[in-house]
Amino acid sequence: MDFTISPRVEEFRRRIARFVENELLPLEADQASFDAHENIRLDLLDTLRGKARGEGLWCLQLRPETGGQGLGKVGMAVCYEAMNRSIFGPAVFNAAAPDDGNMMVLEKAATPAQQARWLAPIVAGEVRSAFAMTEPAPGSGSDPAGMMLTTATRRGDRYVVRGRKWFITGAGEARHFILVARTSDDPRRGLSAFLFDRDTPGWRIERRIPIMGPEEHGGHCELVFEDMEIPVADRLLDEGDGLKLTQMRLGPARLTHCMRWLGLSRRCVEIATDYAHQRLAFGERLSARESIQIMLGELAMQIEIGRLLVMKAACALDQGSYARKEVSMAKVHVANLLHKAADTAIQINGARGYSKDTPLEWIYRYARQARLVDGADEVHMMVLNQHLEREGRDFWTWQAAGQDGAPSEPVEGAR
Ligand SMILES: Cc1cc2nc3c(=O)[nH]c(=O)nc-3n(C[C@H](O)[C@H](O)[C@H](O)COP(=O)(O)OP(=O)(O)OC[C@H]3O[C@@H](n4cnc5c(N)ncnc54)[C@H](O)[C@@H]3O)c2cc1C
Repeated sequence: MDFTISPRVEEFRRRIARFVENELLPLEADQASFDAHENIRLDLLDTLRGKARGEGLWCLQLRPETGGQGLGKVGMAVCYEAMNRSIFGPAVFNAAAPDDGNMMVLEKAATPAQQARWLAPIVAGEVRSAFAMTEPAPGSGSDPAGMMLTTATRRGDRYVVRGRKWFITGAGEARHFILVARTSDDPRRGLSAFLFDRDTPGWRIERRIPIMGPEEHGGHCELVFEDMEIPVADRLLDEGDGLKLTQMRLGPARLTHCMRWLGLSRRCVEIATDYAHQRLAFGERLSARESIQIMLGELAMQIEIGRLLVMKAACALDQGSYARKEVSMAKVHVANLLHKAADTAIQINGARGYSKDTPLEWIYRYARQARLVDGADEVHMMVLNQHLEREGRDFWTWQAAGQDGAPSEPVEGAR
């Protein structure tokens, strides 16, 4: 077991950290940097993305032949954490959801012709993308395989799509969409995945859903499909592979959420520690109080636990495993950690923490979604329990060196 990282990864981390410190943190402190939805202004973002790209700090998640840096998940874990020291970081380095997960899955699952048309423009930073799976009740939510109502019916060389999706992140700005729809009633192979362009007739954005937190560019939208036609050539993988495509996308995408959330959690500790060192009360600094030391020590430990879970899952993904168990554990732990880190940091900062003078309140409102998106906590716990039931005491087995061990096959499609 080796916890060291390569000099190349460390060099990327160092350069990203410098970019964040010099270019992004000063902008965060200026309200003029924000758009109406509390994210970085798009014109400012475009300038910074150009700069990051020029410095080679771009698309770390993709292979060099796709236009990326080929860092692998372990390298990404190190660097994504450094990026999200700033709330603006992931978007600037083209590592933000949903483009991040969409690019990774298109690199893996799309044909060369599909990649040229649908992936290359996202990599070039020319367009944004969205992933449309969730539906309002009674449709697909935690249980897409069982509950999906949107249909794609084959007619000759086209599919005709009818239905409704909601909470589709980025849809207001996206040009390229990945859509998951029902093509049959087969319980395991009933879903298929498709690509469509914003200009395709037959669909519309019904509304941009108002939410409690700051919004990704393009918001979270409700979409309606009324006989939208998609050519067969724009189907991803085979008919019936929609769940497989979803699992290919969501495993890595969940983990990159965790990588970024660790960066935000560290930022919360950083702001809280700085204040605790400065602030005097009852004759001594807050940092001298044991109760405050315990709060910060606890957070530091929880962050490190999160990093270990993320690294273990990243390592397994790099070795070709689905890492279902590892990703679920990391997702639940880090989502809750982010919430706790923001809450604790606000408490230590007193009224200042509740103000907009620091990004803590932004992170706090943002953090609440972490326990819902890409599988609610309870669903991941259910998956973990399924592994426990099946593996018994082997749940905790270490893989011995030299053992051929692509671990854990996926068991269900409930995410
Ligand atoms: C900010 C945000 C962005 C999103 N972006 C996208 C996107 O880009 N594309 C997309 O397709 N979707 C997106 N989603 C949707 C997200 O993936 C779903 O919210 C999530 O899968 C849960 O589905 P649901 O909201 O329908 O919850 P439901 O399925 O209605 O579940 C409600 C609650 O029931 C509980 N629950 C569910 N199953 C179980 C169980 N087995 N055992 C115990 N309790 C359970 C959980 O507490 C859960 O929170 C986004 C959501 C949010 C909040």
